[in-house]
Amino acid sequence: METAAERFWRGLLEWYHRNKRDFPWRRTTNPFHILTAEILLQQTNVRKVQEVYERLIGRYPTPQQMAEADLSELESIIGPLGLRYRAVRLKKCAEVICREFGGQVPNTYEQLRLLPGVGPYIADAVLCYAFGLATVPIDTNVVRLFCRYFGLRSEKSRPRNDPALAESIRRLFIFDGFDGTRTANLAVLDFAGTVCTAGRPGCGQCPISSGCAFLRGAAPADGVSPGGGGPEENSRGREGR
Ligand code: SF4
Repeated sequence: METAAERFWRGLLEWYHRNKRDFPWRRTTNPFHILTAEILLQQTNVRKVQEVYERLIGRYPTPQQMAEADLSELESIIGPLGLRYRAVRLKKCAEVICREFGGQVPNTYEQLRLLPGVGPYIADAVLCYAFGLATVPIDTNVVRLFCRYFGLRSEKSRPRNDPALAESIRRLFIFDGFDGTRTANLAVLDFAGTVCTAGRPGCGQCPISSGCAFLRGAAPADGVSPGGGGPEENSRGREGR
């Protein structure tokens, strides 16, 4: 008999094959391009990032070129996204890659975390999307979907920072049937970003609704247990990668 996780992944995979989104950073495995995209995507709507990403990658395709970039020019390219501090972050990141890692984006979690502005999510995303490792990048969107569907809860006011919850989510990841971890993670991102959204989840059209704890009233909308603090802000504010 099918487990809840198998049922979830079967439904998600079927949905993904019909609805997957296409972004330029999904058509590459270049680690520096993926790292650049992930830094741009922080706290930014994914649709706004595309044009800036393509201009940046066209102008500074390597860490060496980004490290030598004129900061004001870099800021003017990133300007339409707001949050100009990301220009400084990208340049510093590239400088460290050149100085400490011979101009190559490192391929371990520990080394990636040494780069300025690279937190757990970005490190796991680069490992998965660039290096093909079986990591699960966990952000607010991923937490929301898994908490709603599986009824997972956190005692923390910010569930995405809860290591116990992250471990529970990772245990539910099944990669069989997907052509690698990349596809599984992208399916989760696309579904959470377009169907199981933060404000108004599309439960009426949801293809996996029959197994969803939230729809049965058995899960909070945001994964926070009663008494576990206020609802988590959607601080990363993005709809997918
Ligand atoms: S039924 Fe609603 S809450 Fe549950 S997974 Fe689908 S969209 Fe999300």
